Amino acid sequence: MILPIVAYGDPVLKKKGKEITKEYPNFNDLLDNMFETMYNACGVGLAAPQIGLPIRLFLVDTTPFSEDEDLTDEEQNTLKGFKRVFINAKITKEEGDAWAFNEGCLSIPDVREDVFRQPKITIEYVDENFKSHTETFEGLIARVIQHEYDHIEGVLFTDKLSSLKKRLIKGRLTNISKGKIQVDYRMRFPDQKKKR
Ligand SMILES: [Zn+2]
Repeated sequence: MILPIVAYGDPVLKKKGKEITKEYPNFNDLLDNMFETMYNACGVGLAAPQIGLPIRLFLVDTTPFSEDEDLTDEEQNTLKGFKRVFINAKITKEEGDAWAFNEGCLSIPDVREDVFRQPKITIEYVDENFKSHTETFEGLIARVIQHEYDHIEGVLFTDKLSSLKKRLIKGRLTNISKGKIQVDYRMRFPDQKKKR
């Protein structure tokens, strides 16, 4: 089932997510629905707050990035089929010189800005079977994980922009929260006026 994606301005996007256990109600259905919702919107990641749940859960599938012809074969192969579920994740280390990448977000349609992040991360998490992992990721995979991880910490990429950039996009963000935007997937807008 495709779930509506929560738009910029909804307070759930500002909440720090809570840890979950195996007993979380209808967990397998939730995962299926989140993957379906992410693929339907052509996203490479989706975090639970984006569907209205303030819990520490996000998904990543970087396959769409593997089609970028500027990448080496090796980079393409790494990105292709990188599909993971991250539960109760904790980034324990970020390393290297910050690099810029033009990020977007399914909750903030049509806004794309360069965001600086460190290139290498170490993350502890449990997978969909609640098995524990500690792994290191680099490059675009690390980038997507960092973006989704921010969601479960209540942080959006627009929070990381300079105050000048924030001022420049303020009007567009207000329009998004009011639903004054064309978008080809299902969304829920916090400040949309009820139609009579
Ligand atoms: Zn996002």
